[in-house]
Amino acid sequence: MGGKTRKAVFFDRDGTLLVEVGYLNHPSLVAPYKFTLKALRKAKESGFLLIGVTNQSGIARGYIKESDLRDIHCRMQDILGDAGVPLDAIYYCPHHPNGRVAAYREKCNCRKPAAGMGFEAAERFGIDLGRSYMVGDKETDVLFGINLGVTPCLVRTGYGSYEERGMKESPPGNFHVFEDVLGAVEWMAGGV
Ligand SMILES: [Mg+2]
Ligand SMILES: [Zn+2]
Repeated sequence: MGGKTRKAVFFDRDGTLLVEVGYLNHPSLVAPYKFTLKALRKAKESGFLLIGVTNQSGIARGYIKESDLRDIHCRMQDILGDAGVPLDAIYYCPHHPNGRVAAYREKCNCRKPAAGMGFEAAERFGIDLGRSYMVGDKETDVLFGINLGVTPCLVRTGYGSYEERGMKESPPGNFHVFEDVLGAVEWMAGGV
C-alpha cells in the first residue's frame, strides 16, 4: 500500500487551541480553552492525526528564543498529554522577512499563509490532504488551508470574530465558520 492514506486536522495554536493572551512567551501562559481537550479527543476518536502549525516570527524578531518556544510546546504537550490527546506533531515557522535576527531573516515557504509546514507533515505522516482540515482564527489560517488543499475552517475565538468581518468584505475563497474548535471538529466528525 503506502501512499497518502491518513487524514489530519491541522490546528493553529493561539486563539484556536490555546487562549489568546496577546503574546505567549512563557510556559506559564499556556492554557487550553475549556473546550479544546474535548475537541482534540473527538478528532482523535474520529481517526484524525492532530497537527499543530504556528507562526512564531517572535524568534526572528528577537522577542523569544527557540529554546523558550520548545519549553512552551513541552508545557502544552504535557497538558494535552495528561488528557490523553497530545498533538502528533507541532510545526512552527521561526522566520520573518524583516526579522532582526539574521539566522531567521528570510522569506520562507513555511510562514502561514504559505503551506510549507502542512506539506512537510503530509510527507512525514502520509496525509491525504483531500480528507483533511485546517482550523484557525485568522485569514492567514484559512489561506494556509486553501494553499495546502485541505478544507479551511475559521473559528470565532481569538481574533476570529474580528477577522471574519474583514473576510466578508473580500472572501479569500470558500471556508466554513464555527464558534470554536469544538464546533469545527463536531462538524468534521459528523461528515466522516
Ligand atoms: Mg491564531
Ligand atoms: Zn518559515
